[in-house]
This record gives sequence, structure tokens and C-alpha cells, in this order.
Amino acid sequence: MVNNHKPFHQKYRPTIFDELLGQDVISLTLKQALITNKIAPAYLFCGPRGTGKTSSARIFAKSLNCLIHESPNPLPCNECEICKNINIGIALDIIEIDAASNTGVENIREIIERANFAPTQARWKVYVIDECHMLSTAASNALLKTIEEPPEKVVFILATTNPERVLRTIQSRCQKFDFKRINSEYIYKNLMTIANKELIQFTDEGLKLIAKRSNGGMRDAQRLLDQLSLFPNGITKKNVEILLGEVSENDLINLINSLIQNNPESLIKNCADLYDAGSEPISILEGLLNITRDLLLKTIDNNYNELFYTSKEFQSELDKISKLIKKSKIIEWHRHLKNLEYQIKNSSQPRLWLEINLTSLLEIHQDQSNDKQNKKINYDDREINQQSTNSSTKTTNVVKDLKIENTKKSTQLHDQVEDNYQYKKDTDDASINLKEKWSLILSKLELPSTKMLLSQQAELINIQSNFIEIGLSPNWENMIKSRKAVIENAVKKIFGEHMSIHFISRNNLQNKIINTNTIPKTISNNKPTGLDQNSSKSSTNGTNDLQNQNSERLNNETKIIKNSSKNLADFFNGEVIDTQD
Ligand SMILES: [Zn+2]
Repeated sequence: MVNNHKPFHQKYRPTIFDELLGQDVISLTLKQALITNKIAPAYLFCGPRGTGKTSSARIFAKSLNCLIHESPNPLPCNECEICKNINIGIALDIIEIDAASNTGVENIREIIERANFAPTQARWKVYVIDECHMLSTAASNALLKTIEEPPEKVVFILATTNPERVLRTIQSRCQKFDFKRINSEYIYKNLMTIANKELIQFTDEGLKLIAKRSNGGMRDAQRLLDQLSLFPNGITKKNVEILLGEVSENDLINLINSLIQNNPESLIKNCADLYDAGSEPISILEGLLNITRDLLLKTIDNNYNELFYTSKEFQSELDKISKLIKKSKIIEWHRHLKNLEYQIKNSSQPRLWLEINLTSLLEIHQDQSNDKQNKKINYDDREINQQSTNSSTKTTNVVKDLKIENTKKSTQLHDQVEDNYQYKKDTDDASINLKEKWSLILSKLELPSTKMLLSQQAELINIQSNFIEIGLSPNWENMIKSRKAVIENAVKKIFGEHMSIHFISRNNLQNKIINTNTIPKTISNNKPTGLDQNSSKSSTNGTNDLQNQNSERLNNETKIIKNSSKNLADFFNGEVIDTQD
């Protein structure tokens, strides 16, 4: 049986410049070159895939050679033998080379060198070299030599998705055109035209989603349309999501709502439902990253629908959600989720990683909700940290003020609270699976001796987006530090290239690790200002005393840094307001 189906991206390839979508400037310039007969020996078409580079090259080749015109003309007939042959890629004098798949083939060099021979059928010989940055050195040199002394009636059209990898010497001899990603509105309209012609059942939301997800590439969009046209109920938003393996907007919002409502049960259940329905953990994570990005855009009153990952119809829902949550919280979630990406991609148990980490977002929340006062402070101080960075009042006032929402406070104390909160938050986040992550790092070490050394004499004590801290036993410090490169290597395998390592002597570590039960319930000895190791900078009356006491309290300071949120709340609950005693 003969297969008559022609893929949409071939069937609906633009055949004249006016059909080329989203590349108006390029169309105009090339048309002008043809009209004025100023044909350059070499062109370089750069741009993302599916934006019309090869189509433009073919239209240009037809415009040079169309038989119904005697000279180059921007309106090829698409009916004559040459036009037809070029359209189906069999014209003898139009040589299309895919450098990506032919890079090792010796004869590319010969093919290029043969440019010196006159065309056999057409008026102009046109070489279209796709992905030209992949040409071998020999082929690149042959090309360079040929375009340096271009034969008559020969045009080279080099196309690439990666222009910075094209030799400078070649670039400098070409007329360069940058193809842009095609606007999703253009893609949507094109898809609708095709769907109507092909009698495909579709919904607008479905087509718009295809247009949005094809990232400005027409070929990808048409390919998706082609595939989706086989769905029995046509092209719906749901079908597009299924084909792309995407988590639906509603499911993502359910997850976000579980986080906002601080509901672990519904969070895990939503996750499990998605997993059971076939969504991969990485898709769930990607969805969450995208939707938190959208929520962030909402907080800055952005109304450019083009910028949003979610659909136009979904924006009102997004508006509602964005009012329930603070910007700082969204950023915090986003950062946390972003760090998870690499781990999930490389884990043998991605679902577990996702669930644990999503729950850890909740636990921060829970700590706060356990103690309303504390929650208020945590949120409050973050907000104020943005609002007032210059004001400075007495510490005593500040501590009282902390009980009231939306009041100005001393920068000094805010920083302390912020630092303390931040530290607490970080350690809480990290402590959930620091041991787990440390084991993971150790598992990437090749030498058993190093593995043994690190498992016994070091441990992971802190992990952030761009660095980790490793606590070391003092006796082994130098030995472990000498293996930094090996450890770094293992860390990068897990967390990515950007991670740096800080070593901390275990003496410090021991000071940090304390049993929270040993912290005195009444903490009059541990003034809030004592939380900050930089309190000597303070210029307020309320902290002068504390400066003097600072050295005595060195141990207490480090203890308090690790204090539980309960005690932190107590600080500001009036128990230790008086700093003058
Ligand atoms: Zn023609």
C-alpha cells in the first residue's frame, strides 16, 4: 500500500517569500536583493530550528532559477520543472547538504570544490548547507577557499542553529540573517488554517497550547498538529497535555493550593494521583517551576499573556492564587524547586525525592503555623526587610514593634531576625535530608579510602543553591582538604557545575549542634541582639551593653542560632524586651 500521507511541515512549507511567517525583514531584504540583482556569493541564515531557514533557502533558489522569469525574480512560479524539483529537493543544481549527518563523509569537500563547474540545468548553482557549524575542518577549508574566490552564478546558503560555532573567517564573508522565533499568534493562525483544510477537529485552547509550547518553531508546531490529528476526539487542550507529558494547569494549581493551605495530606495525594496517571516526577517539577514563575510575574502586575506559561483562560485563577501568597514565599519555593531539578533527573527514585522535597516546603510552613506569633514575625520581618533598610531605632522599641504587623523596625534587628530566620530555615530545610545527600555524595566517590575517610571524619552541614558546607574533624582536616578536587567532582555530579564547597572545622560544628532541650526556657541571658555575630556594628543604646557582653556569650550565640522557632518567637513575645538590665 502506498503511503500518501505527507507530513504537515513538508506539505505546508512556505513556497514564496510572502508565505514566510514572522521573518518580515529577512523576506524584504532577500526580495530586494533579487529585484536589484545584487546576489551575494554567500549567505548565513542563523536562528532556532523550525523558523524558516531551509524554506527561505529554497525560495531563494527558486527565485534565482524559475523558468518563467529570465532573471532573478522574488516571485517564483512553483509550477515550472525547476521550481517543482526544488520544492521536492531533487533539483540537480541545488545541492542540499546536511552537515550534521554528513560531517564524517569525505566527499563533502569534493562537493564544495565542484562549485567551480557550471550548473547543468539551472542558471544558478545553489549550495544549501544545513547545520554548517558541523562541517569538518577539511570541508570548512574548502568552503572558505571557494567563497573567498566565488565562481560566477554560484550561491552558498549556510544555515545554522549555532552561529557562534561557525568559523569567523566564514562568517565575515557571508551576508548574515538572524531568523527570529515565530510569534505564537502567527503559529496559532497557521495551525488553524491547516486544521481547517485537513478537516481536523480542534478546540482553540488546544491549538493555542500547541503554539505556545512549540517555542517559536513552526516545524515543531506542525509536527505536533500532525500527530494530534490522529486523536479520535481531535485536538483538545487535554490531548496536547497528554502528548507533551505535561501536568495540567488545574493539577498544578491543586499542588500549589496544598502548599498554600499547608496540607501535607492533599499534597502527597495530589502528587500520587498525578504519578499514577502517568506524570513523571520531572514533569510535575517542571510544571511547578513554570507555575511559580507565572505567580511571580503576577506579583508585578504583568498582563502580557505571551509571557505566561499558563493559558490566557487560566489567568484569572492565577490572579486569585497570587493574592494568597507573598512574593518572597514564591521566590523561596522556586529556588528550592530549582535545586531539585538536577537531583530528580539523576536519582533512581525521583518520586521519593520530589515528595520529600515538596513536603519540606510545607514543614517550613508548619513550623510557622505551630506558633502564630512566630509566623507573624517570620513573614513580617521579611516584608520589613524590603520596606525599611535605612531606619534605625532603639532595639527595645523594635522588639515591641515586632508584635505588630506592618510597622517600621530597626534595620539592625531586622537583619538579625532575618539572619536568624534564614539560618533556621536553611538548617531546617537541609536537616531533612542532609544525611541522605551526604550518602549520595559519598556514593559518587570512586576511591573506597576517600569514601571511608569522609564518612567517618566529615559530614554535610549545610546546603544552599550554590554552595555546600562540609564539617571536618580537626585531626583530619588537612587530609580531607587535600582531596577537595575529588569531592568537588562528586558534588558537581549531583548538584551541577555551579556548586562550590566550603570546609568548616568540626569544632565550630560541635558548637552549632546542640540539643534544643538544653536551651533555657527563659532566655533573658540571650538577648535578641546576641543572635547576631555582627552586633558590634550596632550603634543603638540598646545594644551597647550587649557589645560588652558579647565575648562572654560566644557559645550562647552559636547555640541560639540553632534555636527552635518556638524560642525565637518567645524572644519577641515580650520576655526579653528589656535590654537595659
Ligand atoms: Zn518556476
